[in-house]
Amino acid sequence: MSKKDYKQATKLMHAGRHPEDYFGVVNPPISRVSTILYKDLAAYMDPNTKFRYGRVGNPLSANFEEALAELENGHNAVSTCSGMAAITTAMFSFLKSGDHVLITDACYPPTRFFARKQLAKMGVEVQFYEPTIGAGIAELVKDNTALIYLESPGSATMEVQDVPAIVKVAKDKDIITMMDNTWSAGVNFKPLDHGVDVVLQSGAKYIGGHSDTNFGVIVAKTPEHYKKLKSTSIDLGQCAAAEDLYLALRGLRTLEMRLKYAAENMRPVLDWFCGRDEVQEIYCPVLESHETHDLWKRDYTGSNGVFSVLFKPEYSFEQIAKFVDSLELIPVGSSWGGYESLIQPQDMKAYRDDWQKDGVFLRFQIGFEDPADLIADLEQGIENLK
Ligand SMILES: *Cc1c(COP(=O)(O)O)cnc(C)c1O
Repeated sequence: MSKKDYKQATKLMHAGRHPEDYFGVVNPPISRVSTILYKDLAAYMDPNTKFRYGRVGNPLSANFEEALAELENGHNAVSTCSGMAAITTAMFSFLKSGDHVLITDACYPPTRFFARKQLAKMGVEVQFYEPTIGAGIAELVKDNTALIYLESPGSATMEVQDVPAIVKVAKDKDIITMMDNTWSAGVNFKPLDHGVDVVLQSGAKYIGGHSDTNFGVIVAKTPEHYKKLKSTSIDLGQCAAAEDLYLALRGLRTLEMRLKYAAENMRPVLDWFCGRDEVQEIYCPVLESHETHDLWKRDYTGSNGVFSVLFKPEYSFEQIAKFVDSLELIPVGSSWGGYESLIQPQDMKAYRDDWQKDGVFLRFQIGFEDPADLIADLEQGIENLK
């Protein structure tokens, strides 16, 4: 049986692990590396020398990159200090002054702010497109369009993009496609298998999984694209910290089961919100009522523990705050993908070009608490809206 034939769960137990390199140690140990010593000058000068300087590459970063390239079915990976660094490094690798870039309007908000500030300053023309545009993106393509940036499902509103349709347009016109795949963690969707050129993730979410890591990764499908990414990451001084790389690799072993468990735990809480009168709209592609549910069903093998709720406009921010602050089990905090439930308010008018809806918008991340306890907590808290 070739290694490629194993199922994903099996692969995830072995990816990036080389006990033979570490005296049989199961998990690749934390190696803190800046300087690397050579046996002589010739070894230092040898272009095939594997590791030269810790920031540029070391045994642990190589183990991590090998594992992530395997997870995303890519050629090779570049590790970065955060998800945001993965996004900026990947964009800088393929954009230059005078280029036009198309970015999904439902992108992670800091991606939008980066594009508006840094890319615009560089002389890149930035245009945001409707996440549900699909093949219609052809109409937005210009002669100088260099990159189409996808994020699926979209941040907060969770539109699943028609990745194959967008990729087809891009391939016809020789445009690079890049996708933020943090939501699926590389487990439930493989963008590179659908023709996307470059995929990236924030590892702070499900890969890390315990709200205590900051790292990111970029995976390229081809050696040419990998070379560009690696060279840019060196120019920008990118590297991930040793402890975070260690936790990333450890996180991979339980990644698929945590995603499944999170999705299962979320469902009763999601259903509870669906039955509530205070709610204007719920955003989660697993719901049949979600506008892109069919695309999620077609392309994804699972979900996670994240959904968003837009409350009816008659509930003021102060009322919603009373509800949120009365919860014992779901605190307010940024991020998702950890073991604990969280609420994060979303300023949709700042995050989308054309957000017309009124009402407080909250994103929920459901962790591994018993959902019955979470629902009981929500039941008592929602009394504050009466
Ligand atoms: C959190 C997040 C990022 C940014 O990652 P950091 O590790 O926090 O820099 C990027 N994309 C998505 C979808 C995210 O949720």
